Amino acid sequence: MAIDRRFLLAGTTAVAASAALPRIVQAQVAGPFVLPALPYTTNVLAPHIDGKTMDLHYDSHHRGYVMNLNASLKDYPSVAAMGLHEILSKLGEMPEAIRVAVRNYGGAHANHSMFWEVMGPGGGNPNGELFAAITRDFGGVHTLKGRFNDAGLRIFGTGWVMVTVTRDGKLALETSPNQDTPIMDGKQVLFGNDVWEHAYYLSYQNRRADYLKAWWNVVNWNKIAQRYAAAKAGTLTI
Ligand code: MN
Repeated sequence: MAIDRRFLLAGTTAVAASAALPRIVQAQVAGPFVLPALPYTTNVLAPHIDGKTMDLHYDSHHRGYVMNLNASLKDYPSVAAMGLHEILSKLGEMPEAIRVAVRNYGGAHANHSMFWEVMGPGGGNPNGELFAAITRDFGGVHTLKGRFNDAGLRIFGTGWVMVTVTRDGKLALETSPNQDTPIMDGKQVLFGNDVWEHAYYLSYQNRRADYLKAWWNVVNWNKIAQRYAAAKAGTLTI
């Protein structure tokens, strides 16, 4: 009961707090998808990402995406029984009535779940096999960061800048509009950054280039190395 009340209250807050949330009625559907726990508190990425931005981004935006995804699957139990990765990789097979909702909210759920996971306080640098792959495929970490930031800056409107990885461990830079994910094209996402204005506007306003540059200070390379190993093993799902 306590959980239900919290869910309801949080949903109300989500609608009130964010003008950028999709304007569909947020039905109170408690599943099948859930907001994943953050692996850190929302204030630890400051000053690079401020706590207020993290609070809103995680607890309002991401929660809203999950709620809307669940609501869109309410009358589609066979789709609701599928995992997120399967839904996204079979987007073309989704019932037409929910395909756009699944694309937007399912993509958003996958993208944000990945995003929280690849960040953390402390920064650091890639090493070992991941460092070798970055050197081979981008010419070095510095070059990767430069190309990644340039690609993120060029996205018009909303979207994501990502690094994808094949089962052979080959890396590539990709951008996707809105909440699309390379998973929809059968690819694996190693890591990525959110360039929707809600990700940075409170601290950076229109200075997206500054946000993209600062973001590297909160990238968790150890986690990305784990995702790299999982991608090669074929067990990376989001
Ligand atoms: Mn976002």
